[in-house]
Amino acid sequence: MSNITVCVRFRPLTSKEKPHGDDSVCIRCIDSETFIFKDEKDEESMFSFDRVFYEKSEQADVYQFLALPIVRDAANAINGTIITYGQTGAGKTYSMEGPGILECDEQKKGLLPRVVKELFDSINLSEEEMTYSIKLSMVEIYMEKVRDLFDLSKDNLQINESKSRGIFLPGVTEITVRDPAEAFQSLYSGIANRAVGQTQSVNRTRSGKLILVDLAGSEKVEKTGAEGRVLEEAKAINKSLSALGNVVNSLTCSMQGKAGHIPYRDSKLTRILQDALGGNARTALLCCCSPSAFNASESLSTFRFGARQVIHESMAKHIKASPHVCYCEDKSDTVSIKASAHVS
Ligand code: ADP
Ligand code: MG
Repeated sequence: MSNITVCVRFRPLTSKEKPHGDDSVCIRCIDSETFIFKDEKDEESMFSFDRVFYEKSEQADVYQFLALPIVRDAANAINGTIITYGQTGAGKTYSMEGPGILECDEQKKGLLPRVVKELFDSINLSEEEMTYSIKLSMVEIYMEKVRDLFDLSKDNLQINESKSRGIFLPGVTEITVRDPAEAFQSLYSGIANRAVGQTQSVNRTRSGKLILVDLAGSEKVEKTGAEGRVLEEAKAINKSLSALGNVVNSLTCSMQGKAGHIPYRDSKLTRILQDALGGNARTALLCCCSPSAFNASESLSTFRFGARQVIHESMAKHIKASPHVCYCEDKSDTVSIKASAHVS
């Protein structure tokens, strides 16, 4: 099985997009892997991905195809990263969290609550005799600074690396959680502090790290008409996103023997993801899009970000790394990483 899975998800039209009716939809379903896209000049092109989730898709479908295999691998000490990408309003946070982190409607729950539940379930089902603890931390990357969402006084955490721990954040607050309810409560308080993420890492004799990343909106700076500090924020976000694209491309190129250097250090985001993206780690990228013609050009750039990774998929699957569990979240104006846990 490939190490990189790239999917596209189209959310339903919003009430603002709806008045234009079907004419305003710029995509046409071919099958569960392929769709036709009509650009602003009415020219059509076909795109294929590992899976395309259309507007009627359920949260459970996305979880099962994209996340479940990675969560199961994380329990077996294979690192993984699940990333949502796309313009603001495209459905990244909805896919990652659902309508809210404490959402009660099972159907609407997003990837994060489902991943947390599966992690606890897999620990409980484990036949191995062990005591375990899951420690949760949440951080946000904002303007290239890593902030502790559980302790806002720690607003510039450093990123270190060691043989035993891999990439870690010295001094980051870690909250021990014993069941999914405690985990959600902690996540909820961290999210209220609006920043990035939590990381959950699981250590037995083996350890695996799983990182969930809800990226900042990918829309172009010029389109947002940003100035001053907002412009600086947009630049920082672009830096993170292009660094992420470059790292994935470099990983695939190095497998072809073309380049040795993987530019993880070009952004805080890629540095934190370093040991969950390279090596034997598994990556799932969910490209979230509006189906509306109004957003056609942003959707096209989102498909291209994903398609670039697909082109190199056959190479990427040979990349070597080792496993863990984390969650990164990002509001439209910041890039955040959420959740890491250690089970020991
Ligand atoms: P983003 O995080 O990409 O900026 P959101 O996830 O906040 O976007 O989604 C924008 C709006 O669209 C929200 O009101 C959200 O509830 C809604 N939405 C997104 N995806 C879906 C979906 N698949 N089904 C129903 N509503 C959705
Ligand atoms: Mg969001």
